[in-house]
Amino acid sequence: MADSPKHIAVLGSTGSIGANSLDVIAASEGQLKAIALSAHSRMDELAAQAKKFRPRWVVVSDPKAAKRLDRKKLPSDCEVLVGPDALVEVAQHADVDVVLAGIVGRAGLESTWAALEQGKTVALANKETMVMAGELVSKLLAEKGGRLLPVDSEHSALFQALSAGKTDEVARLVLTASGGPFKDLPLHELQQITVAEALAHPTWDMGPKITIDSATMMNKALEIVEARWLFGVPAEKIAVVIHPQSIVHSLVEFVDGAVIAQMSPPDMRLPIQYALHYPNRVAGVARRIDWGQALHLNFDPPDRDRFPAIGLGEQAAKAGGTAGAVLNAANEAAVQSFLDGDLHFTEIVPACRSILKAHNHEARPTLEQLVKLDKWARQEVSRWVCA
Ligand code: NDP
Ligand code: MG
Repeated sequence: MADSPKHIAVLGSTGSIGANSLDVIAASEGQLKAIALSAHSRMDELAAQAKKFRPRWVVVSDPKAAKRLDRKKLPSDCEVLVGPDALVEVAQHADVDVVLAGIVGRAGLESTWAALEQGKTVALANKETMVMAGELVSKLLAEKGGRLLPVDSEHSALFQALSAGKTDEVARLVLTASGGPFKDLPLHELQQITVAEALAHPTWDMGPKITIDSATMMNKALEIVEARWLFGVPAEKIAVVIHPQSIVHSLVEFVDGAVIAQMSPPDMRLPIQYALHYPNRVAGVARRIDWGQALHLNFDPPDRDRFPAIGLGEQAAKAGGTAGAVLNAANEAAVQSFLDGDLHFTEIVPACRSILKAHNHEARPTLEQLVKLDKWARQEVSRWVCA
């Protein structure tokens, strides 16, 4: 008899990670089942996904948006749950095997935390949770026996490469970065960047927030902090290299000098599939390297004048405590202000730096303190915008 399917709660199903996750589930030949879907604003997309995947629950995290959901379009046996608490309820439900954390930003924290409190497995795309509360999440994992499987492509690559040696044999984690759309733009032109230009990423098709983060390189800063807590490796042992082709997703250098990399075309369906089917590898839907074509790979050290965000990521990873939460919240708010036309592209990183510097660093914060600081940092960005 065939094994029963793994039940996946796809949180943030209407986003870029969510849609890629549903592709993986659709291609799994019944091995994976979307038991829950969640959306915040895109009600028509949610209804269409529910029709196709027939989940037990759909969650609408924004109660106002829920009023726009046409329930007649849903399968008759699909239950609608409303509000942010419903994300927590689903994440903790006994019938959920894996929570796919695909919500963007700080809003993903509570559901991931809730799943880990139940000792569940979380396939984690929502890096902001680790940036904000990575140290506390690591403690929770140790206490409750849950599991975090990285979906972020760099961290999935590191996770795979790390299996080539022991933890104390790791010399360095090397995160690759495409460099985004402005890698070669004359520095003085950065000031004039428009929202449309910043949203045009050369190698990845992603949601708006992470696309802006990739253009400022704040994405790599957040990923340094994410790697520090996911793998328990100190900040000093995490490096960044520019690799414009986005084929090598990251590398682990061991003490003997051997460097192990994971390579594949830029397609998020592979890391998602690896996490959802873990510990198995399956044929799946992701694109493959064509070895019949020439393949040229470049690696360059990052230009720190162009991308000062990297230094902020290193600083937050070293400082630990409250630094990650402040950096993350300031960045989320600054990116939103840029998208709203209230802040220049080149002001995003300076705003984050000044707010990080201004905050009273605390080495051992509670989750409640981090949530409070998250609010404070957002207010500071509003003051920066008005100034
Ligand atoms: P998108 O903006 O495409 O999707 C975000 C999802 O979160 C949507 O389903 C959205 O619902 C939902 N959402 C938005 N705000 C809230 C909220 N306040 N409460 C609950 N749900 C909310 O983002 P991405 O898919 O690009 O990114 C998701 C996460 O994955 C991010 O943390 C990102 O850093 C990470 N990631 C993404 C990659 C990618 O390739 N896209 C690669 C690596 C990591 P709705 O659309 O209905 O409003
Ligand atoms: Mg990444």
